Amino acid sequence: MLIFGVSRQTHDGHAVAIDCPACGARGVSAAPQHFREKLLLLGLIPLFPVNSVFLRCGACGRSMAVDARDLDEFYRIPPADLPARMRPYVSGVGRFFVVAALALFWFPFLAPVLAVVGLLLTRHHRGWRRAATVALVLSLLVLGAVVALFLLVPDRRASA
Ligand SMILES: [Zn+2]
Repeated sequence: MLIFGVSRQTHDGHAVAIDCPACGARGVSAAPQHFREKLLLLGLIPLFPVNSVFLRCGACGRSMAVDARDLDEFYRIPPADLPARMRPYVSGVGRFFVVAALALFWFPFLAPVLAVVGLLLTRHHRGWRRAATVALVLSLLVLGAVVALFLLVPDRRASA
């Protein structure tokens, strides 16, 4: 018997006009979508619901998370406040790669790969892109130092 289950309901709202923070298109049509996910105990007893509202830009097709519990709350947000309540949706896997690259930047060969993957996955978000770039630069400096060390050591032996 299933101990935990998830029920997901999706509600599509009617499109609104937004200035897209991801691609910069102005007055573009965007469709909101409400996800309601419920964790069910024994497949029957609802424990707690998770509500999220996403807005999909009609110009670039990117989804952005909106700071609202449901569509009613979403439609009550004054259009002028909407840009401040939208965040580009950032892949959780991408954030993991950026954090791993920052933590392991001193690890040659591995860290630059983590940083590049993190940069590719989070490139639409300014803050995460900056963190990934910092990780990439640090990891390349370490890699450069390691390579320089390998090149210098045989030289020193030869001249001794
Ligand atoms: Zn857009």
